[in-house]
Amino acid sequence: MSYVTVRGLRKTYGATTIFSDIDFDIAQGEFVTLLGPSGCGKSTLLRCIAGLTGVDGGQILLAGENLVPLAPQKRDIGMVFQSYALFPNMTVEQNVAFGLSMRKVSPADSRERVREALHMVELDTFASRYPHQLSGGQCQRVALARSLVTRPRLLLLDEPLSALDARIRKHLREQIRTIQQALGLTTVFVTHDQEEALTLSDRIFLMNKGQIVQSGDAQNLYTAPINAFAAGFIGNYNVLDAASASRLLQRELTQAQAIRPEAIELAAEPDGEGEILSHSLLGNVIRYRVRAQGVEVVVDVLNRCAEDLHPNGTRVRLRIAPSAVREVA
Ligand code: ADP
Ligand code: MG
Repeated sequence: MSYVTVRGLRKTYGATTIFSDIDFDIAQGEFVTLLGPSGCGKSTLLRCIAGLTGVDGGQILLAGENLVPLAPQKRDIGMVFQSYALFPNMTVEQNVAFGLSMRKVSPADSRERVREALHMVELDTFASRYPHQLSGGQCQRVALARSLVTRPRLLLLDEPLSALDARIRKHLREQIRTIQQALGLTTVFVTHDQEEALTLSDRIFLMNKGQIVQSGDAQNLYTAPINAFAAGFIGNYNVLDAASASRLLQRELTQAQAIRPEAIELAAEPDGEGEILSHSLLGNVIRYRVRAQGVEVVVDVLNRCAEDLHPNGTRVRLRIAPSAVREVA
């Protein structure tokens, strides 16, 4: 059963159409990620759902209720932005309680709910600090607590981790997922980072230029990109035009093909058809650039031992399983 239903959603700024025909359904308790390059319309779509910007057509239903005519504060939606937007002159506790003071919650109830929310984001002992006494990750957890405390019907997160360093980002994304699952909170998460999308989501909506290009779970998006954009954006697919693919695979192909770099096997052989042009060490993976039959491809090899590292100029034979090759439009 659909909990969030979007039909024919349309948004323009003056003469510019940001999107014109967005349709999707989200089930209750689902964690959905909008993934796409900068400028494709992710934030605009989220802001339309939150009511922070108006729409030019279409419907947004939440639990059967049309949100479009409702003011943002009447939608019961929580939203967290990349910039934490905390009140600098209020303590953590006051920041989190702020949303409740607008909702006529009694002071005793409010205290209890703030305590609960701070506990969920592991900031129990930080209640009386001010934002300038917190790290970026802690500020973002306050912002999260502030949206959770109102018990929203829907949580919207717009690149909440983008401003944080890698270690904090990983920790916080796990925390977000744990809280979301514990509360059964229907969530739409926005990111341009494929790893974040793949690790967090029940379902991913891949966006490009104001359209949802493909939707599915991580496995589906990763192994079955439907077009060259999807193949280029998720994973590090080699996207080859029909002529190059035909040469590399030594068979007649009429469509562009996408080949995952880790699905190509590589063995050093003096009379191999390929040559290693360059390599870079990504830690656990060695990424080679190889030319074979006049076509350049990227090949990822697990860095298990020193023998896996072949110097530039090495002749190699490539083995590409047919199942690793996908036709893309
Ligand atoms: P994303 O979040 O995917 O990076 P946005 O939704 O922020 O993308 O922006 C999508 C497009 O809408 C961009 O081309 C952007 O320039 C345009 N846009 C966003 N907000 C406004 C606005 N207030 N006025 C005019 N154009 C806007
Ligand atoms: Mg954005």
